[in-house]
Amino acid sequence: MSDCIFCKIVKGEIPGKKIYEDDEMLAFHDITPMAPVHFLLIPKKHIKSLMHLEAEDVALAGRLLGKAQELAKELGCGENGARFVINAGRDGGQTVDHLHIHILGGRGLGWPPG
Ligand code: AMP
Ligand code: ZN
Repeated sequence: MSDCIFCKIVKGEIPGKKIYEDDEMLAFHDITPMAPVHFLLIPKKHIKSLMHLEAEDVALAGRLLGKAQELAKELGCGENGARFVINAGRDGGQTVDHLHIHILGGRGLGWPPG
């Protein structure tokens, strides 16, 4: 989508601090980190939110989850764990309308969220 900031990062039109990239997904550091480790993992395909996932996207979503845990381990969260968050829609607190998984770690995180 032309006006989507995450699609622009995929296309290299705006910079992103990339951690991982392959044909179908991209991981980059969050611009406003909320923890010592805070990065985002997105599909390159523009999917608006988890609420807009279609049947054909389910296998991709599974691969995203697998890569999320692999990268979390690579970034040092293997022993103490991490928080994997998908905000979806207005009530979910989503501000960028391109499906993304937040991966947060490196400190203890409270629950429940505010
Ligand atoms: P959400 O509220 O779940 O939609 O999260 C969107 C996230 O994207 C926020 O944590 C922002 O800090 C992050 N973000 C917004 N713009 C950028 C950008 N250009 N590069 C990296 N992260 C970004
Ligand atoms: Zn997009």
